Amino acid sequence: MKKVLKKLCELQAVDSDIAAFRIKLIEIPKKEQTSDENVKRAEEIVQDIDAELRKKEIFRETTERETREARMSLSKHNTQLLMAKTNREYSALLKEIEEEQKSIEKAEEETITNIMEMEELSKKLEKRKKELEEIKRKEKAERENLSKMRKQLEMEIEQKSAERQQIATHISASYLTTYERIRKGRGNAVVTVKDGMCTGCNTLLPPQFITLVRNGRKIYTCEQCGRILVWHEDVE
Ligand SMILES: [Zn+2]
Repeated sequence: MKKVLKKLCELQAVDSDIAAFRIKLIEIPKKEQTSDENVKRAEEIVQDIDAELRKKEIFRETTERETREARMSLSKHNTQLLMAKTNREYSALLKEIEEEQKSIEKAEEETITNIMEMEELSKKLEKRKKELEEIKRKEKAERENLSKMRKQLEMEIEQKSAERQQIATHISASYLTTYERIRKGRGNAVVTVKDGMCTGCNTLLPPQFITLVRNGRKIYTCEQCGRILVWHEDVE
């Protein structure tokens, strides 16, 4: 019976390994998604700055065109001013000229601000583009790494599953069923008896019962947690 208990312990160790590998495998798609999101976020930042820059460019073009038109109109009105025949005509033209000059000044100021803002944005864009390239490089390496990890884990699960099958051939079906049932409910099915306790639930066990477990002539389970008990020295 001790041999069976030993095999059950081996089975449990392999099952724990498989479970740990599976958890790691499940985490991979999440990590891949995070990696994609990192790239996407950096791309969006670049796109946003680019769009802002284009808006400023359109604004500048419009302002320049309007200024050109205002200058032409101003020069026309200046000529008309020289030929004004009445005072009313003269003062009306003068008023228009004044407004045109004001709007030209305002447009020139706006153009200066606009150029400065565009320079600032261009610098920002270059910086963010470099950052994006860096992030793309880093995340590409991360994806390759994750892909390698996936293959490795799949291979290890396959190997461990084969190992599990091999171990299971040494255990009778009824013990296997018991093992599976306890494992499903408790996480681990086989625990050691050490320092007078079941190490699965830390319940103190009667000395006579411990002697029975230690002799290992049959399979004993903990009355408290239902796990299969093995004498710790048998598996250490
Ligand atoms: Zn217990």
